[in-house]
Amino acid sequence: MGSHDTIFALSSGRPPAAIAVVRVCGAHARVALERVIGRVPEPRQATLARVRDPASGEVIDEALALWFPAPHSETGEDMAELQLHGGHAVIAAVFDALGRIEGCRPAEPGEFTRRAFENGRLDLTAVEGLADLIAAETAAQRRQAFRQLKGLIGDRAEAWREQMIEALALVEARIDFSDEADVPEDLVGPALRVVRQLRGEIAGTLAGSGRGERLRDGLVVAIAGPPNAGKSTLLNRLARREAAIVSPHAGTTRDVIEVHLDLDGYPVTLLDTAGIRESSDPVEQEGVRRARERAAAADLVLWVTDASAAGTAMEDSDKNLIQPEIWVLKNKIDLPVEKLCKSSESQSGRPLPVFSISATSGAGMDALVRALASHTADYFTATQSSIVTRARHRRAFEETVAALDRALAEGTSGREELIAEALRTAAITLGRLTGRVDVEDILDVIFRDFCIGK
Ligand code: GDP
Repeated sequence: MGSHDTIFALSSGRPPAAIAVVRVCGAHARVALERVIGRVPEPRQATLARVRDPASGEVIDEALALWFPAPHSETGEDMAELQLHGGHAVIAAVFDALGRIEGCRPAEPGEFTRRAFENGRLDLTAVEGLADLIAAETAAQRRQAFRQLKGLIGDRAEAWREQMIEALALVEARIDFSDEADVPEDLVGPALRVVRQLRGEIAGTLAGSGRGERLRDGLVVAIAGPPNAGKSTLLNRLARREAAIVSPHAGTTRDVIEVHLDLDGYPVTLLDTAGIRESSDPVEQEGVRRARERAAAADLVLWVTDASAAGTAMEDSDKNLIQPEIWVLKNKIDLPVEKLCKSSESQSGRPLPVFSISATSGAGMDALVRALASHTADYFTATQSSIVTRARHRRAFEETVAALDRALAEGTSGREELIAEALRTAAITLGRLTGRVDVEDILDVIFRDFCIGK
């Protein structure tokens, strides 16, 4: 697939729909417009036009046509856009017409954005921000993604990189001209002062970085407890009442069911773990093991017990296995109590918040949802200032800080070559973050998640 081909794709959603947006990008975009609408509209002005099959002359549709000449287009190349009626046959006929133009072919997933990156219109962190914006399910995710698309992390990383290169230039001047009388003795001192400052700023962004990453995936809340306590009923009730299930996750397994919720704009991933209960059946044991693993990695565990039955309170062994914060939900309060059950709170040293609910009647659910929403909001409030949204960013900043530390450690040794080497490494690491240097290996990973037409 040539990267200089002219590409076209349906950029709007699945047909049939009111409108279908077809975009064409590349050197033949102008020719494509001339062929299908017989002219090239004024740049950036919506123009009503008849779309025809160039071979037969038959009118396919009437559309709004737009022309974005290079370099002032989203991809930096010539681009044309047709806003057609969104029917299958309309789109098929237009694709057929475009496909017959020499040098034109359907686009690969993410290929428009990839061209925008290659032409310097977006840096890599902005590309990731764009992917996140398209995937955003809640308001907080949307805000974070939009900030990243607009360069919150990329611009800052680029500014740091430039300062590093200036510091490096000072050290290199000292190395290159060490014999010459008119080069000031102390070039390394000022360079290291800059390095120290940069190190502080970059390390500062790493604090709280986990929350920015979490915002992409959602705060993980596991629903756990013995079989028949009412976990699935609770999950269904929470999902229904919030009316915000975005998707039962693709990775749903027999053991763990995932539901995505939007709680006041913040994303929560609810996990229903299979009943945690010792079993001699090896298949069940495996399910229990996985359920424990997921629950242990969660941010919050809702431990559901059957308040009407005896002996279903949380065992100490379960508490020890579950590291995150735990809330105890005494379910089935609509039923009469069989026997006095053991109090969950008094079993171990730490007092646990307790909610009395009925997953079937809905009693107590309001208080539980309010508490969940405020817990989630508290967790994410600290994220507002976090610019690190992916493990890739965190690793890049960690490596940069480590390289700057090496430069500072060599600061007093007089081995200027080693200081320069460490600064070069730091600058390259930041350059990889924004995609300025040597990133072929990570491009495919980043663009893999894009849809066709973006
Ligand atoms: P799980 O094994 O923990 O997922 O439990 P389920 O959600 O499958 O519930 C087990 C049984 O308890 C089902 O028959 C539910 O209808 C019932 N159940 C769940 N919650 C309540 C409740 O609040 N009150 C009553 N009366 N029954 C409930």
